[in-house]
Amino acid sequence: MSAQRPLVIVGGGAAGLATALAAAPMPVQLLCRSRGGHGDASTLAQGGIAAALDAHDRVADHVADTLAAGAGHNNAAIVRWLCTQAPAAIDWLVSLGAAFDHDARGHLQLGREGGHCAARIVHAGGDATGAEVMRALSRKVMEDSRIHRREGIEAQALLLRGGRVCGVRARDASGAIEEIEASAVVLATGGIGAAFACTSNPIGADGSGLALGMAAGAAVRDLEFVQFHPTALDIPGTHCLPLITEALRGAGASLIDAAGAMLMKNVHASGDLAPRDVVARRVWQARQEGRGAWLDACRVEGDWNLRFPTVLAACLAHGIDPRRQPLPVTPAAHFHMGGLSTDLDGSTTVPGLHAVGEVACNGVHGANRLASNSLLEAVLCGQRLGRRLARLPQAQPKGAFAWRVRDDGLPETAKAELRRLLWDAAGPVRNDVVLGAAMQRCTEWSEHAWQARLAHAILAAARQRCDSLGAHYRSDSDPLPATARMAVGAH
Ligand SMILES: Cc1cc2nc3c(=O)[nH]c(=O)nc-3n(C[C@H](O)[C@H](O)[C@H](O)COP(=O)(O)OP(=O)(O)OC[C@H]3O[C@@H](n4cnc5c(N)ncnc54)[C@H](O)[C@@H]3O)c2cc1C
Repeated sequence: MSAQRPLVIVGGGAAGLATALAAAPMPVQLLCRSRGGHGDASTLAQGGIAAALDAHDRVADHVADTLAAGAGHNNAAIVRWLCTQAPAAIDWLVSLGAAFDHDARGHLQLGREGGHCAARIVHAGGDATGAEVMRALSRKVMEDSRIHRREGIEAQALLLRGGRVCGVRARDASGAIEEIEASAVVLATGGIGAAFACTSNPIGADGSGLALGMAAGAAVRDLEFVQFHPTALDIPGTHCLPLITEALRGAGASLIDAAGAMLMKNVHASGDLAPRDVVARRVWQARQEGRGAWLDACRVEGDWNLRFPTVLAACLAHGIDPRRQPLPVTPAAHFHMGGLSTDLDGSTTVPGLHAVGEVACNGVHGANRLASNSLLEAVLCGQRLGRRLARLPQAQPKGAFAWRVRDDGLPETAKAELRRLLWDAAGPVRNDVVLGAAMQRCTEWSEHAWQARLAHAILAAARQRCDSLGAHYRSDSDPLPATARMAVGAH
């Protein structure tokens, strides 16, 4: 047993696992709140991973598409690095045993998604890419004796000594508290979708790691940029909703209202395949007007069990057969472009504290993420961070120590009210009056509850950015006439 203090990684999604694999041979403790991969967004990923692999595709085009989706708010140098490294990331996952889909000639099948000018989406099991990637990463982690993976453990506080993060306080499922000294701490805790009333994310994507980093004094950026997916299956009274992949619209499905009118007609030149933010606002608007929104996928051809097994199973589980009847849909909080501010190496502004994956913001996604770029970021940035941490000499922090605690938070009923507040004020359509009122309500809670402080920070960032940009849409600063309004942000 090494006397070396372990690297502690909080979060066992794709970012946490990739970091752990690259950081070994140093000892690693991987703390996962969820068990068996349930509860992380990585396992739910459907569409795939973007990489310019086709003979007719170019890395420069992947870069251009990423910058266009991000409305130019991206860190262009990091975008170039990510897109250049993408083929190597696919090779690495294949070397770990990830079984991606191949065509009849034995070549990787490359799908096409909105915002991509070429077919460049590597996928597995049709629409079950995340589960396959996580299977391959998890198996490798299990085989590595230097990585101690512990499940059902929640990080609740960070230890600072002399201004440097050097430990974690964690609670297990029985409520037992443990303090773990660490050579460094990596937050790989995923996104914030579950902080909203409607989300495609799992319940664990509640921003708890982001709140921990903020409590430790780490800087945040771009908190206002939240991507809303236009088509989650609308199951009344349900918070975390099954995602209906946009590949279905690529395969011929159309959005309609209760009267059967095409929702995307005359809204955008690309119709049902308009950019996500445009479609999400249209679906939001139709629902606000009482027209409702459905996805009619009855015309989609081929064997659903092969092409869309995840969507088919989710719909059938709720008594809806997508081959025969339109699916009720709602927009849903899907991906957070903002987060703990980091450089490309995953360093936050607090020494000893690192962040990677969706909880981090290194600027790669800008104001709106290009589809299928986030698993790529999780894997590549995780590898890069892990390799760097393995090379760093162990710091010996001295001086006064202090715990930076994320409090227990709100009770369940108040959490539900807060989610609704955030959804109504900071959902796909925002304005100053509603944002201001929601901030006021949060202030009444925020003394005692980390969820309210986090919500307040998101609302404040959305209020401060008065103009629409990327996924952030302000109805009160829109200079366009009403007819053109829904297409703002098109790219
Ligand atoms: C339905 C869906 C479909 C998607 N499809 C795609 C796609 O096709 N392609 C793509 O590129 N991206 C896709 N995404 C986005 C992508 O899956 C995520 O951005 C990415 O997987 C994030 O990885 P991560 O490791 O950062 O976070 P996660 O995979 O969410 O892992 C975070 C982990 O941290 C744990 N955790 C959180 N807080 C704590 C705590 N305090 N203590 C201990 N553990 C904690 C969580 O339980 C979880 O296990 C999709 C997302 C969803 C929800």
